[in-house]
Amino acid sequence: MKKLLIHGGTAIDPSRGLYEKLDILCVDGKVSEVGKGLSYPDAESLDATGMVVAPGLVDIHCHLREPGYEYKETIATGTRAAARGGFTSVCCMPNTKPVNDCAAVTRQIIETARAAGAVRVYPIGAITKGEAGKELTEVGELKAAGCVALSDDGKPVDDSRRMMLAMEYAAGFGMKCISHCEDRSLAADGSMHRGLQSTLLGLRGIPAAAEEIMVAREILLARELHVPVHIAHISTKGSVELVRWGKAMGVQVTAETCPHYLVGTDALVTEIYDTSTKVNPPLRTEEDREAIVEGLVDGTIDCIATDHAPHHIDEKNVEYASALSGISGFESALGLSYEALVASGHMELPRLLELMSVRPAQILNLPVGGIAPGAIADLAVMDIQTPYVLDPSQFISKGHNNPFGGMKLTARSVYTIVGGNTVEY
Ligand SMILES: [Zn+2]
Ligand SMILES: [Zn+2]
Repeated sequence: MKKLLIHGGTAIDPSRGLYEKLDILCVDGKVSEVGKGLSYPDAESLDATGMVVAPGLVDIHCHLREPGYEYKETIATGTRAAARGGFTSVCCMPNTKPVNDCAAVTRQIIETARAAGAVRVYPIGAITKGEAGKELTEVGELKAAGCVALSDDGKPVDDSRRMMLAMEYAAGFGMKCISHCEDRSLAADGSMHRGLQSTLLGLRGIPAAAEEIMVAREILLARELHVPVHIAHISTKGSVELVRWGKAMGVQVTAETCPHYLVGTDALVTEIYDTSTKVNPPLRTEEDREAIVEGLVDGTIDCIATDHAPHHIDEKNVEYASALSGISGFESALGLSYEALVASGHMELPRLLELMSVRPAQILNLPVGGIAPGAIADLAVMDIQTPYVLDPSQFISKGHNNPFGGMKLTARSVYTIVGGNTVEY
């Protein structure tokens, strides 16, 4: 019988309104006892004095790159990076090679994750075969194989009628479509937010409307069909307003944003050879950033996801327009989000933890750790007091593409516990 005693920490469980200095005994993958001054000499002991013990973070949007792009990341390296970031469960997008559009690929991801993964991995299947935007995938087959949602992430489903059929079909199987909102005729070959900064740099811009048109479309389709839809990586003020409108109308719309939209704006894009800021959707304006923070505070935006998108250095070490989009985000997500939301006084820590664990798990119906007898022992032990400087060159992820190196942060995960076992990374 495997026993782990986490003692001396402050236990925070937003789903139970718990915020108290308590010891936690985990037995065989579950929390078995919570109390003060617990003593179990036969248990492995973990000293959490001065630290916070919280439910493990849940990321419903990441790219693990395997199969097919193992030079960018593997399930082994990606899940170790996730564990280092405090995540105990991650959902990986299907834009691998081959695309995760059939049961064989889903099973391969699940088997590799079982053998080499450091945290729980839940695959997301494609909406269309090959993410080509044409033929719909077999939802029942993907669900039976273990997919937890559907998305053509990296690309939108351009054709509105096809997206409507996909949402209806998915809902019939109790699945949600996750929409990467991008009108490709508007985004064209833009590489940063369309505004003053893109003009100054002479780079082709992606207008906010390229995202917002599709956010509006998905909300209207969900309203038409009375089915749910989840909006990925919201980056603009207009998108926040549209989701707020959709929710007020009773539409079953949920939405996520990412840590980089909470701390970064297009002002960070200053020269065309620093491509670490290139991400899709792009970093927007200060006005957008403030609206997104407000959207998280008032619950319009339901959760924070990383959109962890590691790339090889050669894919970023080119001029801006040619670089691939994406930020390696697992190992900075907690620190950046804490800085933007808690240290800045917008919300208290339990609310941030809710946005990064309980709420995302609810959206995709995933198990989540908790601090109460019987709960799954998926926990993160966090230090929110010791300042540090973010250094992407030290990331466990193969992708070191992250524009926030050098930032002074205070929150980070120190131990990550999956099923009662401390993850080694
Ligand atoms: Zn996307
Ligand atoms: Zn993505």
